[in-house]
Amino acid sequence: MDSVQQLIADWDGEFVVTSFDADTGSWIFIAIHDTTLGPALGGLRMNTYPTEADGLRDAMRLAEGMTHKWAALGLPRGGGKSVVAAPRKLTGDTRCKLLHRYGRTVASLRGTYACGPDLGSTPDDMRTINDETEHAHGWDHRRNQPLDPGPYTALGVFVGMRASLRQVFGGDDFGGRTVLIQGVGDVGIPLARQLSTAGATLALTDIDEARATQLATELGASVVPPEAAYAHPCDIYAPCAVGATLNATTIPQLTCRIVAGSANNQLAEVADGTRLHGRGILYAPDYVINAGGAAALPALSAGSDEATVTERVRGIEHTLDEIFAEAREHDEAPATTARRRVERILAEGRAGRR
Ligand code: NAD
Repeated sequence: MDSVQQLIADWDGEFVVTSFDADTGSWIFIAIHDTTLGPALGGLRMNTYPTEADGLRDAMRLAEGMTHKWAALGLPRGGGKSVVAAPRKLTGDTRCKLLHRYGRTVASLRGTYACGPDLGSTPDDMRTINDETEHAHGWDHRRNQPLDPGPYTALGVFVGMRASLRQVFGGDDFGGRTVLIQGVGDVGIPLARQLSTAGATLALTDIDEARATQLATELGASVVPPEAAYAHPCDIYAPCAVGATLNATTIPQLTCRIVAGSANNQLAEVADGTRLHGRGILYAPDYVINAGGAAALPALSAGSDEATVTERVRGIEHTLDEIFAEAREHDEAPATTARRRVERILAEGRAGRR
């Protein structure tokens, strides 16, 4: 098993800040993967892990993912992520003290890294961290309310679906198209409403069937049992629940022509991008199409107006147009094209810094 030292020695990222909070027995890791394009930005994950090395590994993997996300979108941000590996779920005063300590660690980086909410951390936590540093996004201090990335992520997915429809069907009208949304939560709900307004026929699936039924009643959609979701006839399958739903077992069952959704890490393995391409299914790379919330949050925290923020999110449509066109030209999976685009943009950034 790798130790923390071994993981740091083997990593191709820039640096890791490590701190131990003796009061709670928690490890704080801030992993900065690549700041070629700008200061790093990525969420704070608070979780329990079998060992501290597992927490660090998670931070490193997620930080690299953020480098890809920002580069693919051409935004001037770098890849970073932090993990607080706590021995148990912390609440109240204990949590607050730990968040202040974490905030001071972020502050010491003087803007090289900024965080936002991620699994296990909330906008309220960001408000606490703001006591120590401005480099935490998630709380709207002017209106004194949490910032919700879900609707912006949903908008990014919606415009990404439009780009996908044009690529596959030659037009982006949702009328007569069926979209299956898997997971009707913070992203799935606003996405479903937007698609319904645009004239799509909706099929909804969620392990919380009451949730799916309630939204289906509101929108006149149908409900599909979770186990029947992959084979359900549709034009677009929108994974908006968990990762790794595209794998060697599910891909052969799909009837759709497009996969476009918000879930992180949708492909169980790299080869699944090629598997989808082999089946003639267009895949909108997850880290591109689901970047709306991440792109919106810092701008909203900085007080940007709604029009500026949504304009930035709508840029995802153009980015996907470019990725799909290049993928078609090379007859390759869009996941392959997106990865090459990331490497190209980072290489140009490095050359510009010399
Ligand atoms: P959420 O927790 O609010 O909603 C997820 C929904 O999926 C819940 O209703 C849950 O019951 C359902 N679900 C869980 N497992 C399922 C399964 N196996 N089959 C069907 N339904 C299942 O989460 P969210 O914020 O809407 O995020 C959805 C996905 O998008 C996650 O993978 C998240 O990491 C990703 N994402 C979210 C954002 C954001 O702005 N919230 C941004 C980028 C990526």
